[in-house]
Amino acid sequence: MSAYLSHVASIASQRDRMRDLIIKWANINSGSHHVAGLEKMAAVVEEDFVGLGATAERIRLPTYSVAGPDGMLQHVPLGPAISMVKRPESKFRVFLGIHIDTVYPPDGPFQKAREISPGKLCGPGVLDAKGGLAVMLLALETLEKSPWAGRIGWEVLINPDEELGSPGSGPLLAAAARRNHLGLVFEPALPNGNLAGDRRGSGNFTFIVRGRSAHAGRDITAGRNAIAALAEAVVRINTVIGRMDAVSVNVGQIEGGGALNVVPALALCRLNVRVSSKEQGAQVRSHLDAVAADISSRDGFSTEVLGDFHAPPRVADTAMLRWLGRACACGAELGLNISWQSSGGTCDGNRLAANGLTTLDSMGPVGGDIHSPQEYLLLESLVPRASLAALLLLKAAAGDYS
Ligand SMILES: [Zn+2]
Repeated sequence: MSAYLSHVASIASQRDRMRDLIIKWANINSGSHHVAGLEKMAAVVEEDFVGLGATAERIRLPTYSVAGPDGMLQHVPLGPAISMVKRPESKFRVFLGIHIDTVYPPDGPFQKAREISPGKLCGPGVLDAKGGLAVMLLALETLEKSPWAGRIGWEVLINPDEELGSPGSGPLLAAAARRNHLGLVFEPALPNGNLAGDRRGSGNFTFIVRGRSAHAGRDITAGRNAIAALAEAVVRINTVIGRMDAVSVNVGQIEGGGALNVVPALALCRLNVRVSSKEQGAQVRSHLDAVAADISSRDGFSTEVLGDFHAPPRVADTAMLRWLGRACACGAELGLNISWQSSGGTCDGNRLAANGLTTLDSMGPVGGDIHSPQEYLLLESLVPRASLAALLLLKAAAGDYS
């Protein structure tokens, strides 16, 4: 057994501890908009990471702006981010990151983690991404206990807003990207255990239609029905953007209207678009603008399109392919059959890559059904994934890759 593997082997005894940490974390609701829950989660995580001996800081994030149901911009508070830094003066520095927010609000039915069958843990955020948080912790503990630790610097950013597109932590990620040499993000592995290579870009948009209200019985011709116009816009957006090659669009929310005897003056929908290139992003934007302009040109109507592509597409370049190869070689040493493939998902890895940091961003454990009440984590993947990240860190620290 190599010197590295004898250090990594200690992770095997930590499986149940990792499971217990994940259950504890998953049982704290940390929906992206649940600031109190995110504060609590941050306090617990700081405590659980204290043994790493890093310089830790809790960072308040600014509010972010989003169109409310009335079509007006609202300023929504975000939870805190946690930064941890160790040996920043080192020649080789690794960024490690993962989010603590989930898509599950505090008033929903999905609140507790439980092992629904042997080795299958079901719960809110167990895979996306509290399982990744445990994997990151174990990898760093293994590094810090090793004789090579002093030869590498690292910084961790745990953010509370990734599921919203990292509107508040984006600038922190961009700054971290510029001062590190390798990024590791602990989003879930792909379902077969592979790492993500190319990733599509993602944009969130709000399409707002304003018409004119009127009495639906006495004066309907004076009204301009915003819901009817929006419905037409949704169909056009779905048809044209949905037909573009390697682009997907999801109108995920629609709002508007009130009393049934009033012509609705306002309707809006929110949509998410995934693209494979910047050019496609520009095409999508111009299509949204064209639909909006067409509706605005009608008497009594106006429109507004808010939002943008918050994560650009990430195409695996030479440096990334080199690190993917190294990670897969580490996997092979551990007896894991890991490769890489493209993913439709978007994560902070896109943002880091856009700012110049080569990032492996699916270092977390294996499971499935994320963003649904069936989200699960395969507990048997925890030790292998923590071992994979640890081995890569040990080799980078020892200078094997320089
Ligand atoms: Zn995630």
